[in-house]
Amino acid sequence: MNDYASLIKLQAIDLLLDKQAVLMEGVLKGLSDSTAIDQLSAKRLAVEKELSKLAQSQSKLQIELVEYKDKISSLTKRMYAGTLRNEKELKGLQDEITYLESLYAEKEESVLDLMVKTESYDSMLLSVDEKLKTAKDENQERQKDLMASKHDIEILISEQQIERDKVVKNITKTLLDSYTQLRIKKGGVAVSQLSRDMCGICRIVIPSSELQQMKRSREWRKCSGCDRMIVVG
Ligand SMILES: [Zn+2]
Repeated sequence: MNDYASLIKLQAIDLLLDKQAVLMEGVLKGLSDSTAIDQLSAKRLAVEKELSKLAQSQSKLQIELVEYKDKISSLTKRMYAGTLRNEKELKGLQDEITYLESLYAEKEESVLDLMVKTESYDSMLLSVDEKLKTAKDENQERQKDLMASKHDIEILISEQQIERDKVVKNITKTLLDSYTQLRIKKGGVAVSQLSRDMCGICRIVIPSSELQQMKRSREWRKCSGCDRMIVVG
């Protein structure tokens, strides 16, 4: 294989390696992506926090209910203890009991509200847990596929790398340097093959005198259209 045939082969390998690198980037990104699980876990945490707040409020209310009940019962006892001196005192006591009973009913209503809310958050937690489980299962499957792809890409890359090392040995250092620099500058494709009397990439026509010179010397020349190395294939 002459220098140029090797150079063309090298370019084909490098383009394949570029493609594999892009694929690998996608695979690695996929492997580290846990957005769905993270979002659901955050939601779960928020629901749990709300449930704990609700439980706290409920237990606070339960304590208050017991306190009201005790107060009402002690006032009721006083009412029937026969120690009241007059109607006014009795009326005062009755009013206080009625007031406490209305407060008690109010708190009881609040406890019921909290229980309803708790129930709805409980079912929300169940649904989030189900979704989380599905997301985790799906993620596991996806990770398996991605790991398989990663393995395939790694094998392909190492095979191509071995091939590349062989091909590079056939190319002179000066030519390889020009190729490497142009590849960076051109973002991948550095070499163009002569296609009849045109640059194989930008299709600019090469003046016949230059064309003859090129074919005679078999030296590469810089394309005036795309700046790439045109080689006689
Ligand atoms: Zn060109």
